[in-house]
Amino acid sequence: MARYTGPVCRQCRREGVKLYLKGERCYTEKCAIDRRSYAPGQHGQRRRKLSEYGLQLREKQKARRIYGVLEGQFRKYFREATRRKGIAGENLLQILESRLDNIIYRLGFALSRPEARQLVKHGHFAVNGRKVNIPSYQVRPGDVISVRESSKNKGRFKELAELTRNQGTMEWLEVDSENLTGKVIRLPSREEIDSPIAEHLIVELYSR
Ligand code: SF4
Repeated sequence: MARYTGPVCRQCRREGVKLYLKGERCYTEKCAIDRRSYAPGQHGQRRRKLSEYGLQLREKQKARRIYGVLEGQFRKYFREATRRKGIAGENLLQILESRLDNIIYRLGFALSRPEARQLVKHGHFAVNGRKVNIPSYQVRPGDVISVRESSKNKGRFKELAELTRNQGTMEWLEVDSENLTGKVIRLPSREEIDSPIAEHLIVELYSR
C-alpha cells in the first residue's frame, strides 16, 4: 500500500494551512507553518497569483494530503462520489471521512491521521469484532470500531485517555473511552466536516 514518505510539514507549508499531520507537534510552537508561513523551496517567498486551474489543483492536493490519499485512490473516490445520489463534492468528503484511519482519528484514538493509519496497519483495531488492518477500509453507519483486546495493554493504548485530545465529540460518532470502542451512528453532513476544503473546486478540476 503506497503512501507519501517525504517531509511531512512541507505539505502544510505548500498548502498554506495546518493539516495536522504530526499529532502533538502541530499544537506547539515547533509547528513549521507557524515558524515559516511561506511555501517551501527556493521561490517559496515569491508572490504568485494562481490561475483558476491552479486554485482547483491546490484544493485537490490539500484534500489528498489531509486524508493521506494518493492520486489513483483519490480519483477512484471521486468516481464513486459521482455515482452516488446527491452532491458529488459532499459525497467525496463523506467517502474520505468514512476511511477507517480517519474514523480512528476522529474518535480520538490517534493524534493524527498518519498515526491512525500506522496503528491500523499494525493490526490494533477491529471493526464489528473482526480485525481490520486496511487504513482505507470504508466504515459504514452502525459499525463498531474497537481496540483489540491484545492491544489494550500495550503502551500506546494504556496512555490513550491522557494522550488523546477529545476529538470524538462529533455528533455522528459515539465514543466509549473506557472500553476504547466507538460507533459510527451515521455519515456526517457537510456542516459536520471541519476539513478546510472547497470541494466544488475539486469537482470542477475533475470535470475539465
Ligand atoms: Fe503541519 Fe503539524 Fe508540521 Fe505544523 S507541525 S506544519 S500542522 S504537520
